[in-house]
Amino acid sequence: MAENKGIKTIGVLTSGGDAPGMNAAIRAVVRRGIARGLTVKGIRRGYSGLIEEDIVDMTAKSVSDTIAKGGTILYTARCAEMRTPEGVQKAVATCHKFGIEGLVVIGGDGSYRGAEKLANEGINVIGIPGTIDLDIACTEYTIGFDTAVNTAMDAIDKVRDTSTSHERCSIIEVMGRHAGYIALWCGIANGAEDILLPEKYDFDEQKLIDNIIDNRRRGKTHHIIINAEGVGHSASMARRIEAATGIETRATILGHMQRGGSPTCKDRVYASTMGCIAVDLLIEGKTKRVVGYNNGEFSDYDINEALAMSKAISEYQVEIAQSLSHNYYRSEALRAADRS
Ligand code: ATP
Repeated sequence: MAENKGIKTIGVLTSGGDAPGMNAAIRAVVRRGIARGLTVKGIRRGYSGLIEEDIVDMTAKSVSDTIAKGGTILYTARCAEMRTPEGVQKAVATCHKFGIEGLVVIGGDGSYRGAEKLANEGINVIGIPGTIDLDIACTEYTIGFDTAVNTAMDAIDKVRDTSTSHERCSIIEVMGRHAGYIALWCGIANGAEDILLPEKYDFDEQKLIDNIIDNRRRGKTHHIIINAEGVGHSASMARRIEAATGIETRATILGHMQRGGSPTCKDRVYASTMGCIAVDLLIEGKTKRVVGYNNGEFSDYDINEALAMSKAISEYQVEIAQSLSHNYYRSEALRAADRS
């Protein structure tokens, strides 16, 4: 273990959308920090708390009984003022006032941008990827994704039961903002007939409609379409599909239930590990880094490099999702044979 380069007090905050597992990361920052001789401050409501001096002392006990809890005990917020130079200066002043020399920021890309500005002002900052959307380019893993996809998968299984009983078509909209990871994973895990991803969907609704009709002709009693938030419009799509196919079609928007709930084992373990790594990096005197997980290993990246990276949804996963849905990508000849 690297020796402490002299840092005495660190802070931790959660910013942007909440994600299950954030509490495990906070707990790890607090307990690892204390174990390594640091004083740890909790900053409530993200950057708003930093600007408004909403700071609490964290003890090992303050994070008791939190590892299994969803949400974030420090609360989270989106703070427009942090985007301004004045906001950044206020945040820096708070750090100086409370002796916060190092800061762990748990959040997404936007939160990293704020962190980078603080780092430029001399506050040592380490980012941890916390978002259910999995849309952070420098890492294959983000805190909360695993819990969110499991929650969505369970909900979709339930919708599927009723959809089959009523021989309906169901459009189930999952979260993910502009990214289709939750939709793709649920599409595969729930055996959806169609998956609409913002990265791929060509808005050719007729293709969807033909597919539903073909399916029904072949005796399938349900048709599950997983629609990503980034495609959206599930309710109006359901109305158009019902009108075109004559098959009862319902839209279910899973919404914020995907963000809540007790984190999975994976989210608890990875978030705990990332929290400890962030503290160790601060103790080593590192700053402007973000923790990531790739190819089976945890590592850290320069924030600017991380923000400049891009990642694409796996073409192979998309392709297997299509081939496992079995019917959509049947050849035209097979489709024509079905119709005759
Ligand atoms: P999620 O993926 O859950 O939305 P996020 O961290 O990307 O998480 P944002 O709302 O984009 O969420 O950012 C969180 C906060 O980070 C903002 O409310 C703001 O306070 C701060 N922030 C975002 N962009 C900047 C920026 N360019 N400069 C300074 N601060 C920023």
